[in-house]
Amino acid sequence: MSRALVAGMLITAALTATAQAQAPAPPPFATTKVEGTENVYIFRFGGHQSMFIVTPQGVIATDPIGLRRPAAKAYIEEIQKVTKAPIKYVIYSHSHFDHIAGGKPFKDAGAVFVAHRNAKARIDALKAPDVVSPDQVVDGKRNITLGGTTLELNYVGKNHSDSTLVMRLPKEKIIFTVDWIPLQGVQFRGMADNYLPDIEDGLKKVIAMDWEKLIPGHPGPGGRQTGTKDDARAYSVKLTDEGWRVLKAADPLAKRVDDKILAAQGPSAEVAAQAS
Ligand SMILES: [Zn+2]
Repeated sequence: MSRALVAGMLITAALTATAQAQAPAPPPFATTKVEGTENVYIFRFGGHQSMFIVTPQGVIATDPIGLRRPAAKAYIEEIQKVTKAPIKYVIYSHSHFDHIAGGKPFKDAGAVFVAHRNAKARIDALKAPDVVSPDQVVDGKRNITLGGTTLELNYVGKNHSDSTLVMRLPKEKIIFTVDWIPLQGVQFRGMADNYLPDIEDGLKKVIAMDWEKLIPGHPGPGGRQTGTKDDARAYSVKLTDEGWRVLKAADPLAKRVDDKILAAQGPSAEVAAQAS
C-alpha cells in the first residue's frame, strides 16, 4: 500500500471521527426555554416537539406526542421540573395521531383537552384507544386565559389537515402551529392530508398576524427548533412557483397520516377503516 494512500485513509478516518464528534446523537428528549421569554418552553421527544406555557395558576400544554412511546410521562416530568403548578390544559395542534396520541397521563392529572371541532369529530369516529377525546372544541377562534397569560387559538382554514390550530401568544409574539409551515423548503413528509387550494389563504392570514417566533411540530435542519416570519414567507413564495406545482401534482397520491399509523397498529386498524 502506498504511503499516500495510507495517509489519505488516515485523513479520511480522522475527518469521519471529527464529524462524529461534532454531531453527537441528540438525547431522546429535551426541554428548552424559548429565548426571550420567561415562561414558554419547547418539549421535544424524538423528532416531534410541542410547546408548553407556565403560569402561576397552572400550565397550558400542547400535543402529548406519545404515539407508541412514553413521551407523555417524560413530558409531565419535564414540566414538573419547572413548576409544581397543575397542568390545566392540553391543546391539540391538529388531528394526526403522531402528535396527539398518548395523552392519558395528562387526563389523569386533571387537564382539560381542547381541539378544533373537526379534530374531535375525527378522533371520536376513529376511537383510537390511546387518543384522549377533546373535552372542549374550537370553531373559528377562542382565547385561553390562565394566570395572566393569554393563548389565542385560531383556525385559519384547511391546510395540512382540516383541524389545524394556530396557537398565538400575543404578549410573547410566538405562534405554535404544526406540520404545515416547515422551517425549510417544501415539506414533502407533510403532504399527506393536505388541502391545497386553502393553504395560501391560511398562510396570508398567519403572516398578517402579529408574531416574531414560530414553533413548528418538528425541528428543522440542524435541529433548529424555532423559525421566523421569513420562514413562513419563504414557504409562501415556494407555494406560488415550483413547489406549489409539485405539491399539486403529488396530492392525489397522498394518504392520510393517521390512517397509515392506525394500519401499522394492528387490530384497531380494522375499526378505524370501518369508521373512516
Ligand atoms: Zn400532521
